[in-house]
Amino acid sequence: MIKNNKQCVLKIIKVLEKDLGQVKCALNFSTPFELLTAVILSAQCRDERVNKITENLFKRYKNISDYANADISEFENYIKSAGFFRNKAKNIIKSAKLIIDMHNGAVPHAMEELLKLPGVARKTANVVLGNAFGKAAGIAVDTHVIRIANLLKLTKYDDPVKIEKDLMKIVPKEYWIKFSFYIQVLGRRICKARNPNHEICALNKICPSAHIAN
Ligand code: SF4
Repeated sequence: MIKNNKQCVLKIIKVLEKDLGQVKCALNFSTPFELLTAVILSAQCRDERVNKITENLFKRYKNISDYANADISEFENYIKSAGFFRNKAKNIIKSAKLIIDMHNGAVPHAMEELLKLPGVARKTANVVLGNAFGKAAGIAVDTHVIRIANLLKLTKYDDPVKIEKDLMKIVPKEYWIKFSFYIQVLGRRICKARNPNHEICALNKICPSAHIAN
């Protein structure tokens, strides 16, 4: 039975580390702003689809000025299949303008500055800080982390901010970036929302929800 303490979380991490091997950000990017764009696009949209969209988008818009000066209708057409494309286009273009005005065109490295950008909440900021700058400011909490952290009884909350606070108390800081990746990969491959495959899950000996019927 998992207890809510650092030792048990470390065990979960070690088991997943051994079982899943190397994990990394599933979104393709080559600059911090491209990552920011990809994460904004990924809200309610699968990473594979985002990567398809950004393959063309990043060819058309090469630097942050291209984004800031983008024609909104043309930009929307590029990202239409991401869903909520009007808001996403507005937020990406506005973020580019703000970053140029406030940060000389460089994506800020600080959580509080990232949170001032439109469309950027803690999850997006954590992904950007962790993957573009190698900075562990917090733990990125997405739908997989929300669901699986609850199944593992690492939290009792549904709210991502509260879940992140719970996780930051028990996950060792050196794993804050990787922890989300492990849980996301587990969620995609094995612990699926509709059909968690407890039988083949590497955590089934220590997960308190392993008894839930398949
Ligand atoms: S044992 Fe089942 S519920 Fe627990 S993490 Fe694995 S698949 Fe999910």
